[in-house]
Amino acid sequence: PKGGNLDWKKAPCRFCGVGCGVLVGVENGKAVAVKGDPKSPVNKGLCCVKGYHSVMAMYGKDRLRKPLVKKNGRYVETSMKEALDLIASKMKETIKDHGKDSVSIYGSGQWTIPDGYVASKLFKGCIGTNNVEANARLCMASAVTGFLTSFGLDEPMGCYEDIDHADVFILWGNNMAEMHPVLFSRLLDQRLKRGAKIIDFATRTTRTSTAADKSILFLPQTDLAVANAICYEIIKNNWVNTSFVEKHCNFSKGLTNMGYGLEDNYKFKDKPEKISFEEYKKFLEDYTPEKVEKISGVSAKDIKYMASFYGDPNKKVMSLWCMGMNQHTRGTWINNLVYNIHLLTGKISTPGNSPFSLTGQPSACGTVREVGTLTHKLPHGVVMNKKHREFAAKIWDVPVENIPSKPTYHTVEMFRALDRGDIRFMWIQVTNPMVTMPKLKRYRDGAKKEGRFIVVSDIYPTPTTDIADVILPSAMWVEREGMYGNSERRTQYFEQMVEPPGEAMSDTWQIVEVAKRLGYEKQFYYNEETHVEEIYTEYRKHHDNKKHNMAPLQVLKENSGMQWPYVDGKPTKWRFNSKYDPACSNGEEFHFYGKPDGKAIIWQRPYEPAAEVPDAEYPYWLNTGRVVEHWHTGSMTRRIPVLHKSMPHAYVELNPGDAKRLQIKNGDKVKLTTRRGEIVLPASINQRGVPAPMQVFVPFFDENMLINDITLDSFCPISKEPDYKKCAVNIQKV
Ligand code: SF4
Repeated sequence: PKGGNLDWKKAPCRFCGVGCGVLVGVENGKAVAVKGDPKSPVNKGLCCVKGYHSVMAMYGKDRLRKPLVKKNGRYVETSMKEALDLIASKMKETIKDHGKDSVSIYGSGQWTIPDGYVASKLFKGCIGTNNVEANARLCMASAVTGFLTSFGLDEPMGCYEDIDHADVFILWGNNMAEMHPVLFSRLLDQRLKRGAKIIDFATRTTRTSTAADKSILFLPQTDLAVANAICYEIIKNNWVNTSFVEKHCNFSKGLTNMGYGLEDNYKFKDKPEKISFEEYKKFLEDYTPEKVEKISGVSAKDIKYMASFYGDPNKKVMSLWCMGMNQHTRGTWINNLVYNIHLLTGKISTPGNSPFSLTGQPSACGTVREVGTLTHKLPHGVVMNKKHREFAAKIWDVPVENIPSKPTYHTVEMFRALDRGDIRFMWIQVTNPMVTMPKLKRYRDGAKKEGRFIVVSDIYPTPTTDIADVILPSAMWVEREGMYGNSERRTQYFEQMVEPPGEAMSDTWQIVEVAKRLGYEKQFYYNEETHVEEIYTEYRKHHDNKKHNMAPLQVLKENSGMQWPYVDGKPTKWRFNSKYDPACSNGEEFHFYGKPDGKAIIWQRPYEPAAEVPDAEYPYWLNTGRVVEHWHTGSMTRRIPVLHKSMPHAYVELNPGDAKRLQIKNGDKVKLTTRRGEIVLPASINQRGVPAPMQVFVPFFDENMLINDITLDSFCPISKEPDYKKCAVNIQKV
């Protein structure tokens, strides 16, 4: 850019769930620069390395510009009109031959709110199938079921402002320094200004551990036992906030030994069964710090140290977590257990006292959890509830009978159904499942079978476009208009700033065009120029109540977004606390109104081992995750030269002691073998993260080294979220 004459316009960052406010510099019809928006209360002018380079992701050389249709094994260019006609006719044909539940859509926590909303309206409301899922199932589902089982309502009660009040931050398996860098800098700032403490509780040491006051390592899956041991200590030392617990909590137990989702017969009901405080106390006797030390590898001293912060009435504590707790075969339980700690001590829903589940993607909250792009969900409520179906059908202007009352497939099951042939048509938007599905080879082979028709909307070629019959070029981020909802219930709007390349079109409008071709002109009445405003206005009707009201579009435009519930012209910063939340109505200081009796649940949840544990044949734990330079599968960030050069390929992190024993040096080729297959990666020793002994870590961003070919597709049987953090692996120097 020549500089000097840039037109700066505001938007939320397109990458992670922190949702930083950025200013995009536009010159001659091109987005050429990004800086942090100093007016944004989220990031106060800061950005991370991905945010600063985000506009470059729009201008990679191989950007998709024209629709492509597979003919005789080759992709040929076609017009958008013809591609959309073909998609609509294939959908009609598939529904006629195989029924409504043979067509599906698989979207993303990177969908904008209008994208997800029209997808849900078309598939659930008009076509009449609940075959709607999004990749947030792979990252946030356990957080959702954790909230629902403990409080009856989804999403954090607190907000980022908690950081400015907390005395201690306890990070549960959360490498915030790389995954939520700008938010982590706010923690560091509070340490500098006020002496706040940071405790990193994890299975490997990372950049977060080096920056923390203390790093405590635990063995994979044993966070369940440690959380129970902390509750044991709280009770033993009389740190329970008795009046809070008596007024606002119930104790319950649920099912145990529910399996790991590896078979199809895991159907069950996890109905809570009330227990007494005495029964709960007795259950915790199996979790004394001394007993848990043997299971977890965490010393009894360190368990007591962590418990002492939660127990100290003079300390405000924030617990923060993301994939370490959610991608877990007992993901719902570990979410419940951390809430237990905050509920027992009454450290919740007040500034600085906050169990805080962070989101990975920019709109996992906004588009997936709030719009409801999951098989069981509706924008307000669930498909199983007749009143909720009636409410949605009225706004969607469809007969209520259209919306089926039973959920169909969660994500792993959806790809199993595609493999079996129960699903014949799948439309994939804004996500790259042929890199991210666990036990990937099975699902890739399934998707390639005869008789499947797959549409992929994306901005670049990826391993997922490789399985497509039709590839639609999508408009990216500020090439179209939209909204995202971040981790702290903040909905942020962005305008269109530049033109998309070639025939690229927003994912929203692709769906609207197909809906019209399917005969739903009445429901998809939107005007091309004004459709985002029309869709958002319609969407707000689903949440028109004090517990979830969304701010009007004009308010979003004038501010750095707005938190819901937005009531009487004000956002709600702390839910369930009557001082801040107008939906509280029981006359008490706190009201957990998501539960019928207004009380949150303290759950009795035991420690159970992982689905696959190391043995003589596969003696190491395999853990996977992200790196700061790359966003998810790298389809955008690997096209940003500076990010690609600084992190060009994947690697396997080894513990230095293990590497020495196996005579592996930095850069040596190492073969990783699991029961699903093998992969060769260069070794990384003491470079960035350091796994504990007998553990390895591999990032998943590299499509040339697909670690998910060998991961396991086990999942939490309540949330159906896969566990990417634990399976058994063998390693050998090649
Ligand atoms: Fe974007 Fe997340 Fe970085 Fe903020 S922390 S600039 S939202 S990637």
